[in-house]
Amino acid sequence: MEKSDIVIVGAGHAGVQLASTLRQSGFAGAVTVLSAENDLPYERPPLSKDYLLKEKDFERILLKPENFWSEQSIDLRLGHCVTQINPSKKIVSCANGVQLHYGTLVWAAGGAPRHLPIPGAELPSIFYLRDKADADALDSATQHAQRFVIIGGGYIGLEAAASLSKRGKQITVLEAEDRLLARVAGAEISDFFMREHQAHGVAIELSLAAERIEKTDTGLCVVGTDGRRFEADAVVVGIGIIPTIQPLIDAGARHGNGVEIDAQCRTSLPDIYAIGDCAAHINAFADNARIRLESVQNANDQARCVAHQIISGEEHAYHAIPWFWSNQYDIRLQTMGLNMGYDQTVLRGSPEEKSFSVIYLRHGAVIALDCVNSPRDYVQGKALVDPPAQINPERLADTATTLKELLSATS
Ligand code: FAD
Repeated sequence: MEKSDIVIVGAGHAGVQLASTLRQSGFAGAVTVLSAENDLPYERPPLSKDYLLKEKDFERILLKPENFWSEQSIDLRLGHCVTQINPSKKIVSCANGVQLHYGTLVWAAGGAPRHLPIPGAELPSIFYLRDKADADALDSATQHAQRFVIIGGGYIGLEAAASLSKRGKQITVLEAEDRLLARVAGAEISDFFMREHQAHGVAIELSLAAERIEKTDTGLCVVGTDGRRFEADAVVVGIGIIPTIQPLIDAGARHGNGVEIDAQCRTSLPDIYAIGDCAAHINAFADNARIRLESVQNANDQARCVAHQIISGEEHAYHAIPWFWSNQYDIRLQTMGLNMGYDQTVLRGSPEEKSFSVIYLRHGAVIALDCVNSPRDYVQGKALVDPPAQINPERLADTATTLKELLSATS
């Protein structure tokens, strides 16, 4: 049987970062990356942004140039979906029959879109947006589809709404909560994005869940829980992901919402780490709650954390301030920190001028910032979040003083 010192499952942001950091840091052992996908590893964020807008082609969203893998002696195997792990024999098995013995296994398999649990969800012209194949299928649909209903007003749904509306499509977004981005942002941000989308002609229906989808003579019809009917040529579903961890569960790994990892990104199985979207970890920035983060930052930083441990042989705890971004129309939202459990928000700047920040506080301390076209607040805000700064909310709101000046005045 073939052997590899390090076997990485998944060639997304986390898996690729790990493989490349290992080599950059001089790791000379055998590194194998098993990817279920058939395409070279690519960045996922553009799938709902520049790639869907056709402003970037596939070559421009590759995570690494094509020759990187052979130059770095990394054995990248596309079309290898791992279906089984035998932790006592240290063997992974793929759907295509390939088996591999590992020294250390790193699970970086991300997640799969949560499917709509309603009648009609299996009809044609219903799209998800997680990988290149999804984005390409949606792009093909734009050739004949004009009316889109988007189910879910989170980041994916709203970015798809912005990109498709920029491409001249007629968009309706259905959101079950009473505001957009309810899971991730405060009400000021939700209201701002609602107005922006409406200003671009996107119809938004809040507090409305899709109950079923019907086939009609002209296409599809999404029927809401209140009985209202929304005609569409195509439907895009963005209602979250389910972490891809079944082989780990089958092998006996501790799990909940994701595979549970300790501070060093180790699963409960020997010599098996997990990183990225699939990994449920205790996060200091979430008030020490066990969470999964779905972000490029988390994927990359957890990968670096594991690489460091493999190379040094020493324990190294994951500690990285979470950050995130979203692009919609001419708006760049940048988030620093996590706003979980906030009890106060401060508005800094002007939503009307499309440049402002919302600062989240918990017990008087800054825990996160959402910065809309405010890159300076975003950059300087990092020092307010880690460690959490106690600053008078009125002073935080005063844009005449930069956040950096505010911090140095208080410390
Ligand atoms: P993934 O990137 O999902 O990679 C996992 C890989 O593992 C996949 O290629 C998958 O096919 C493969 N795999 C799964 N199962 C197996 C198996 N059994 N065997 C082998 N391979 C397997 N984050 C941001 O920070 N900012 C953004 O603006 C942003 N926008 C996004 C837009 C879209 C449309 C999407 C889908 C995501 C976006 N994200 C964004 C989230 C970000 O892309 C993810 O957090 C990141 O990709 C997570 O990296 P990962 O390596 O954990 O998982």
